[in-house]
Order: sequence, then structure tokens, then C-alpha cells
Amino acid sequence: MSNKGILIVVSGPSGSGKGTLLQGLMQGNERIKYSVSATTRSPREGEVNGKNYFFVTREEFQQQIQSGGMLEFATYCGNYYGTPRRYVYDNLEAGYDVILEIDVAGATKLMEQGEPAVYIFIMPPSMQELKKRLVGRNTETNEVIEKRLNAAREEIAAAGRYNYIVVNDVIDDAIDKLKAIILCQKCKTVNM
Ligand code: 5GP
Repeated sequence: MSNKGILIVVSGPSGSGKGTLLQGLMQGNERIKYSVSATTRSPREGEVNGKNYFFVTREEFQQQIQSGGMLEFATYCGNYYGTPRRYVYDNLEAGYDVILEIDVAGATKLMEQGEPAVYIFIMPPSMQELKKRLVGRNTETNEVIEKRLNAAREEIAAAGRYNYIVVNDVIDDAIDKLKAIILCQKCKTVNM
């Protein structure tokens, strides 16, 4: 019996609190690896290249697509975002569970490609709360916030495609739900 890890695909609108939940999920769990994406958007204050994202130029990104280096990619609010393939497969093979934090378009591509994974959607408690969080974060201009709210409406409409929906109201409860989902998935996935 081999012990391959499971792929955990997490989407949710910008401001849904996915990042906080995933940090809580991974804290103290060395069996989970977070796949760092590549993006052409500029770093926000405090973001570190190689930790939050690999910040690359459009040309570099396009080269990676052409060489088959991206497991999936999408454009979101005018920028490219993608998952480097190698890191994901190497770690799954080595028995780690791997988290992809990606948008709905990217997750939908993986579903269509038949990529075995548990697909989880993080839902904000309400649109009002989402707006409050995006404004409170103070990292984007009003124009970008509006774009992200529009993207959020579209993403929420696609939540039904996912295996699970977790409402991020009380953080600790939402983290417990994520842990339970992953445990269930691991019981489903036995590689003989
Ligand atoms: P942000 O700019 O807020 O960091 O991310 C914007 C959106 O891009 C979020 O929904 C995030 O989950 C998504 N995203 C981040 N990395 C990837 C990726 O590798 N692929 C895809 N398809 N979406 C990503």
C-alpha cells in the first residue's frame, strides 16, 4: 500500500478569510504543504517572494505555461495566477497532503481535468461582511475592491460545484470543519 497524500483545493472570494483558516489548519500539522502560486500581480506590503507568491513577469508566466510547468492557471482581475505543477506532484508522491488556494476558474479546470482532490469552498457569512473585510484590510484601492466584490458574486454562484462549503463565520469552528473534511477525505482515499 502506498501512502500518497491528498490534494485539497480551496477557493473562496477575496476577503472570505481563506488565508486565516488555512493558516489555522496548517498550524502544527507537518503533513500538509501549501503550494505557493505564481502571479503577475504586484506584491502587497509585507508579502514575500517565494512565501506568499512567486512574483513573476507576464513573459515569465507565459513561458511557464508553454513549457507545461503549470498544473492550472487563470486570470483574475487582470493578472495571471497559476500553480507550479512539480511541487504539487512531488509532495503528493512523498506522502504529504497539498493545499491549493486558487480561484473558481482554476478549480473548475482541475475538476474538468478529473484531478483527484477534495474541493472546498469558503463562504463569507454575507456580502456586507465581505465588503467590510475588504475595506478594513486597507490593501486595495476602491476600484480594485469593487472588482473583487464583482468577482466574489460570480464565485459564490459557483459554490455548488464544490464537494464542501464552509461558512467562515466563527474562525475556530470553520477550522474544525476543514479538519473534519480532510479526515473524511483521507478515509475515502486508500491507495492499495
Ligand atoms: P490575491 O490577489 O487576493 O492574493 O488572490 C486573488 C485570487 O487568486 C484568489 O481567489 C486566490 O485564491 C486566487 N489564486 C491564488 N493563486 C492562484 C493560482 O495558483 N491559481 C488560480 N487559479 N488562482 C489563484
